[in-house]
Formats: sequence, C-alpha cells, structure tokens
Amino acid sequence: MNLSSILKIKKNNLVAGDLLKDEPRFRLTQIAKYIFQDLIENWEQATSIPKVLRDKLNKNSSLTMNSKLIASKHSPTIKSLITLKDREKIETVLMRHKDGRNTVCVSTQAGCALGCVFCATGRIGFRRNLSWDEIVAQVILFQRILKKENRRVTNVVYMGMGEPMLNYENVLQSVRILNAPKGLNIGARKISISTVGITEGIDRLANEDIQVNLAVSLHAPVDSLRNEMMPINKKYPIQKILESVTSYFKMTHRKVMFEYVLIAGVNDSLEYAEMLVQLLRKYTCMLNLIKMNPVYKFHPPKPEQIKRFKEILEKGGLEVVQRYSFGQDIKAACGQLAGGEGNIQK
Ligand code: SF4
Repeated sequence: MNLSSILKIKKNNLVAGDLLKDEPRFRLTQIAKYIFQDLIENWEQATSIPKVLRDKLNKNSSLTMNSKLIASKHSPTIKSLITLKDREKIETVLMRHKDGRNTVCVSTQAGCALGCVFCATGRIGFRRNLSWDEIVAQVILFQRILKKENRRVTNVVYMGMGEPMLNYENVLQSVRILNAPKGLNIGARKISISTVGITEGIDRLANEDIQVNLAVSLHAPVDSLRNEMMPINKKYPIQKILESVTSYFKMTHRKVMFEYVLIAGVNDSLEYAEMLVQLLRKYTCMLNLIKMNPVYKFHPPKPEQIKRFKEILEKGGLEVVQRYSFGQDIKAACGQLAGGEGNIQK
C-alpha cells in the first residue's frame, strides 16, 4: 500500500499529495473516505471518481497488501505477516478483547537495532525504518477484516517490531493519520507509544499537541540488571529515563505506564519487587506486569511467584495492572515477533 503520493497530514488535517494536486479540493475528502471509512481494497471500487484518475491511482498507488494471516487456536488473536515492497517482512497483531476492544499492535521498524536479550525481534538486527503509510497500512489491514464483522479497531499500541522513538517522524505522522477525523478517527487516548526509554523521543512527545499514551519498557529496577537485559540501558540508564518521564508528566499531566516483563530467574525475585516499589513510588504512574512469553532460553515465572511479586508492588502503593498475553501459539505475543511464521525460536 502506498498512500504518501495521495495524501499527507499537516497537524490533524489531511492535505493532497502529488497525485491529487491538480484535482478539485473535494477529491481528497472523497478519496480519504474510500481508503479509511469504506476500506476499499482496489481503486475499481471507487466508482464515483473519474476513470482517468482511477487508472492513475491504480498505476501509482496500490491499495493491496501482501500479507499472510495466522490465527491463534487459543484466543481470538490474529497475526499478520506482511511482506513489504522491498521484500522486508514485518508482523502486526490483532487482539480481540472480551470487553469489545480490538487492539492492533503495530511494528515501526523492520527488525530492531537494540538487541534486548529476551526479544525475538532484537535477534534479527535492524533492517530499516517503516514509512508512515507502512505503519498506517497495518491498522487498515485489520480494520478491513473487522468491518466484515461490523466491528472496528478501537486501540492501537506501538509495541510491535522496532523502537518507535528511533523512527519518530514516521511514527508521529502515522499517529496523526490514525487520529484524524478524515483518517481512521481513532481517539488519541486509545493510542499508546512504547519506548525502551529514548529520552529525546519522550521529550519531543511531551511537546506534541496530541494526547497519546506513553509506555516505558523498564523490565528491571537497577541498572546492573537492566544493562544485561537491554544493552541500550548503558546510553539511557534508569535515572535519566525517570528525569525525562518527570518532565513529560509536568508538561502533559498524563500518567505514564511502565512495562515490566517478568522472566523466571532473571528479574522476578521478591527483592526486585521491593526495589521497584522504592524506585517508582513517588511517580504518578502505572506498572504493567507482563508474563514472559517463551523466547529462546527465557520462560515465565510460576503463577505463585507472579502473585507474590504483584502483592509486594501493591502493598508498596503502586498501581499495578497485569496484562494477559495473546497469541503465544502463533508467536504473536510480546517479545515473540520476528518477521516469520513462528518457528525461529531456539
Ligand atoms: S524489545 Fe523492543 S526495543 Fe528491545 S529489541 Fe525488541 S523490538 Fe527492539
């Protein structure tokens, strides 16, 4: 899918791209409706635009996507393995929740340079940044599927392959298109951007006029452990991230979510729980405990250990949520995305 020649976004307004620059002004609105609301899959379905323009769009701006869908047997989760124009592969996941929410987890890069030891994407290494329309296309793909069930994408999380803050411009452009009333019209508060703690990105996001949620992947309460799990911690240690989060909160008054993936024998000791309380108790934040999905040699703790860990956090006054992972059987769960069909684990 190639949208950038058709439209761009300035603040929250769609503006015509090169292909539409000689068209009357209403054409952009008409075409945006076809793409984002009617969710057409080829330009022949755009019957109210002139044939000559349809042909031009067909030639220069395909609406098709090369994707393979893989459904979980155990949960209403679907993973899409998308092959991009240059043959790079990315993955996107749709999670259907019992309460009616439909969350799409999008990728922002093909591969990732940051090499977190527990993450399948990190093993691939960095391939390239995705363009804004390659990010938006991941949501459109699932919006098309849900439309057939009279449902729609309600939430988008930037937690798939790649580090969003290292592809900031494209991520922000994509957020604005998702949020724009003439785009996918998804509320900004239903959109979350997750980072390992790239402070320049957090600082920039604090100054944007868009109310998206910020999540920070913490995963360890001390630098010594975090250095081992996430090499990027040497450049962005915990205190530096917390300073940035403090400024972010002062600017936006929005509560930050810290993510903590619990890995058996690595970061799940009760001492670490106590340290987390000491570290985070003075911040206005939530802690999202995520049970590790098996990746390489890493495994989740036993349920009783997770329970004890969580109790310490709650007794210490932290606001804790526990996210249930979806799609483990299709390697669609957190940390398992690797641009494949789910068989690269060692
Ligand atoms: S966890 Fe995120 S930042 Fe770390 S290697 Fe995986 S994709 Fe990259």
